[in-house]
Amino acid sequence: MNKSKAWTAETIAIGSELLLGGRMDTNSLFVADRLATCGVELRYKTIVGDELSDMVAVLKTAARRVRVVIITGGLGPTIDDLTREAVAQATGQRLSRRKTALDGMIARLAEWGRTPTKAQFRQAMIPTGADIVSNPVGTAPGFVLIWKETFIAALPGVPREMEPMLHDGVLPHLQAWMGRHKQIQAIPVIRRVLHTSGVPESIVDQRLEGLLPAGTMVQLGIYASPMEVMVSLTGPDKESGPVTIDRLFDEARTRLGEIVYGEADDTMESVVGRLLTEQHMTLALAESCTGGLIGHRLTQVPGSSSYIDRGVVSYSNRAKVELLGVSPDLLDRHGAVSAEVAAAMARGIRERSGVSVGLSVTGIAGPGGGTKTKPVGLVYVGLDGGPNEALTKEFRFHGGDRSVIKQRSSQAALDLLRRWLIKKGGG
Ligand code: ATP
Ligand code: MG
Repeated sequence: MNKSKAWTAETIAIGSELLLGGRMDTNSLFVADRLATCGVELRYKTIVGDELSDMVAVLKTAARRVRVVIITGGLGPTIDDLTREAVAQATGQRLSRRKTALDGMIARLAEWGRTPTKAQFRQAMIPTGADIVSNPVGTAPGFVLIWKETFIAALPGVPREMEPMLHDGVLPHLQAWMGRHKQIQAIPVIRRVLHTSGVPESIVDQRLEGLLPAGTMVQLGIYASPMEVMVSLTGPDKESGPVTIDRLFDEARTRLGEIVYGEADDTMESVVGRLLTEQHMTLALAESCTGGLIGHRLTQVPGSSSYIDRGVVSYSNRAKVELLGVSPDLLDRHGAVSAEVAAAMARGIRERSGVSVGLSVTGIAGPGGGTKTKPVGLVYVGLDGGPNEALTKEFRFHGGDRSVIKQRSSQAALDLLRRWLIKKGGG
């Protein structure tokens, strides 16, 4: 055994599809985050295919080098779901059918009006000595086994099943076990996240210069993606050297100011939804180059039916005229991609639907269609909240393919709406 004097972990993602490039192992990201809050440091991530002997070898290696092993995937009913067998072989335990596991599965299937198939009975086979982790969403139970001072948990691969099972079934077990081993150091780490929109990474970086005082254990991360720049502060819970993580977080927020649109799990669409709800406003959309993306994003948020009225994908000039009442003359004079047309689209959708605010986007997503004066990436957003409440904004997005320009356009439009709503609400 060669384990350090700290709580260390390895995730093992099981499934050949994760090796073939068809799917990404995102489960390990979730597991890493949750383990960090418990003071367990993720040291290795392993991905292994559905070959039993490979799985056994990987498990043995993990048990040698870390104290906590979290396996996801391979707990289903099919022949290639071999996690149960692999854990049993690696630890020298037998598999036996457990009544609690079987009862849980039968009860779940009964809710769906079904009875277990012969193959599904395999899912109730659990290694001796393991505790069952019930599955509140699907049929496959997970389990936890402590073997030679190594904590091993096996959970289904489906994220929607794995996540609550880790949280409610595995972590309490792990924390109890850690509590019995006080000689091993646990340093819970917390992570605070801010989301910004509308400025490049370099500006965010500039505004945060010198934020971290000398000697702090807090780490600053700045991550750019097509739609936003995310800022994270990670560090030990409680005291983080001279200043606490909470104070640094507040300072970062103040320095970044109006470009911060949310924290933690906030998304632009959820934040906009919250503001619309607070102000009892309704919204209608007129989308050209985003092709309905803004409507899709907003309607992903539960409860959005209380503020989204409708959205029109007015791609052609004819659609802009027929569905939004944009004048053909205006289109002729300024072209479809112009501030004037964006304004007319926003006004048109607001008037025709009778909502509080209309939001529009028109632009050139490329790769074709650009000209010298109107290049690919030129986008206009229009907002119309009634008389004297209309505005437009021009954006020039560089270096991105069609889908990136669509994403950035949708984000820019929602951000314009967000800022307008904040001003309107007096914030
Ligand atoms: P099932 O009962 O559905 O077969 P399982 O425990 O056998 O569950 P897998 O068959 O390995 O799990 O995976 C089921 C699905 O879960 C995969 O198709 C994939 O969508 C998702 N999945 C599996 N592993 C991961 C992972 N590491 N990260 C993200 N998603 C995953
Ligand atoms: Mg499976």
